[in-house]
Amino acid sequence: MPTYTYQRVPEAAEHGCEHCVAGFEEVQPMKAAPLAACPKCGAPVQRVIHAPMLGNIGGKLKGPSASSMEAAGFTRFSRSGKGTYRKDFGTGPKELGF
Ligand SMILES: [Zn+2]
Repeated sequence: MPTYTYQRVPEAAEHGCEHCVAGFEEVQPMKAAPLAACPKCGAPVQRVIHAPMLGNIGGKLKGPSASSMEAAGFTRFSRSGKGTYRKDFGTGPKELGF
């Protein structure tokens, strides 16, 4: 199984713990949906794509579809303001505030 690297999303700079700010690795099946939150502190994280040439700097990396993430049991939050996140789908609180 491949090992994926995750790091806290830059937009959540005011959040995170040592685990996700420094980045961490998860061994996951190729078809598993990426983690959306740090397993230790819950800060939003994104998968870091390893590539020998970074040809996509400044580009938007396409993530998994919302429906596939929801089907896999993930909860997704979108930033709705400074330090607040609104739930798109899944279980848990409607909004997160830090
Ligand atoms: Zn964390």
